[in-house]
Amino acid sequence: MPSPRCPRCGFSFAWNGRKCDHCPPPSRARQLWEEIDRLEEQIHASKDLTVRQLLAIAAGCIRHAREFLPESIQEVAELFERGSVSLQAGRYPFAQSVDPILLAARRNYVPELFRAVISFARIRREEVTNRDHPIRELMSFSLPPDLERHRRAVVRELSHGRMGAVLARRSNDDPIRRAYDHLEQELTEYNKQRWRVMATEEAAQCAIARDILSYPEIAITFDPKWRTSTVVAMARELFASRDFSAMPILADAMQDADCEEPEILEHCRAEKPHYPGCWVIERILATDQP
Ligand SMILES: [Zn+2]
Ligand SMILES: [Zn+2]
Repeated sequence: MPSPRCPRCGFSFAWNGRKCDHCPPPSRARQLWEEIDRLEEQIHASKDLTVRQLLAIAAGCIRHAREFLPESIQEVAELFERGSVSLQAGRYPFAQSVDPILLAARRNYVPELFRAVISFARIRREEVTNRDHPIRELMSFSLPPDLERHRRAVVRELSHGRMGAVLARRSNDDPIRRAYDHLEQELTEYNKQRWRVMATEEAAQCAIARDILSYPEIAITFDPKWRTSTVVAMARELFASRDFSAMPILADAMQDADCEEPEILEHCRAEKPHYPGCWVIERILATDQP
């Protein structure tokens, strides 16, 4: 649902759909932070990370890729979103990537949990990529008809580890060499596609991290009077339903409570994805949580 109003000030007259005549443009540093596409860098930009935040990011990585992942890992997401690590290590089909998170979170050791979440997110990206672009071997690609009959020769040279010598010795129009070059080119092209899918997923994971961590250069003092019963009830409902389409309405409710904090209003009104662990919701519900 596109917002016809500026996400920052809420004015519609000043908003042309992309920029606002009323609000100062975001700083270059802010823009760069919004454009980070490496998850490690994105999380690293924030100081004072908490276990709860890192678990929420891991959960977000599952949620974003849920259609690619088996049902059993969805339960893990739900626990992580509640900040729970009560799973028994080794009991899950994803133990290899889930266990390091469980162990680090139970020890409350943030640097180790950070590493575990980064590697967890990478594995989820690979799963997303592998569904439509599974890892392929050089010999799985097809050859044009005139080169197809040299396939066995290519296999033979490769299996004897002689391809380097073949490439060095034979001329460019040698059919074995051409067949090999063709296969290599196909593989390179295919791997580029895989890389693009992986990079797209990583950019989405960065957006999840930004929803949970907030822009680190602006400290927000949260005024308890913004926690009216309406605001708290809405935040609870959004968290529980995992449907965040009413975030702009939450901004209105916050404004009714005299909240004019631009970071908060913009976060709620901008067209960005929200996940359980969203920093605005977390700040509203902060008193509810242990
Ligand atoms: Zn504005
Ligand atoms: Zn959010």
